[in-house]
Amino acid sequence: MQPDLTKEILELVRFTSTNLPPDIEKRLRAAKEEEEPGSAAEGAMDTILKNVDMARENSTPICQDTGTPIFYVHYPEGWSTRKLRKQIQAGVVGATQKSYLRPNSVNTISGKNTGDNTGDEHYPTIHFEEVDEDQPLTIELMLKGGGCENVGAQYKLPDNRLGAGRDLEGVRKVVLDAVNDAQGKGCAPGALGVSIGGDRGSSFLASKETLFRQLDDKNDDPELAALEERITEEANQLDIGPMGFGGKTTVLGTKIKGLHRLPASYFVSVSYMCWAYRRRKMVVQDGEVTYS
Ligand code: SF4
Repeated sequence: MQPDLTKEILELVRFTSTNLPPDIEKRLRAAKEEEEPGSAAEGAMDTILKNVDMARENSTPICQDTGTPIFYVHYPEGWSTRKLRKQIQAGVVGATQKSYLRPNSVNTISGKNTGDNTGDEHYPTIHFEEVDEDQPLTIELMLKGGGCENVGAQYKLPDNRLGAGRDLEGVRKVVLDAVNDAQGKGCAPGALGVSIGGDRGSSFLASKETLFRQLDDKNDDPELAALEERITEEANQLDIGPMGFGGKTTVLGTKIKGLHRLPASYFVSVSYMCWAYRRRKMVVQDGEVTYS
């Protein structure tokens, strides 16, 4: 019989909301060292890092905006996705009651907040993907802040305003345009999830999925790996800096994915993830649950 994982999912939400992943924290600490001593940028990084420490110590949310819960469930054959969905929804409600999540789900038509992060079939967002039967059940969670979501952008190439054609040079131009437009909004320093191609919907979806990658990993595609490095480097020369105070770190990293597309379309989607880069996962294997 399928186990009830509601409590374990609640723990995944708590862990994600209160404990920043090591790769992000490491990069934030390095960014603080790069800023001028005594500068506003260094001060902003200091406040961010104190926040990160306090949240972990006290098991309280890293940021008051606990974001949109986005789950990716990779399940081997035999698991009921209907039951998993109910357990995830119950875990989210339980985490809201314990204040690991802020009540964030608002009915857009009535303006009413449901009060417990219940919503429609898209809130919380849950994606299911069946994996080989020898793979463990893995549930990934991202808590995506509203401020950084607001500065995400989608471009349709060619873009004459920016002189961006349908090639990787065009992609570079529009991604940097999105960073420049955001300025400090979206709580820099953050990370860029970029998708090239697809349709409008699949493009935005893939741009978010790239944000599950580790900050220090390398793209398998050498052309995209070079573009990721170049965009990060050039974004950090824009002098937007932590929280928009100016400084050396605007972007912690860039992750890019290419999708197939119709000849008629060439979309570039940019999902911006703020410094409160909350993503964690739980793995269920042989009755044991592990978190990372
Ligand atoms: S964008 Fe991120 S850091 Fe800024 S308020 Fe929202 S969740 Fe917090």
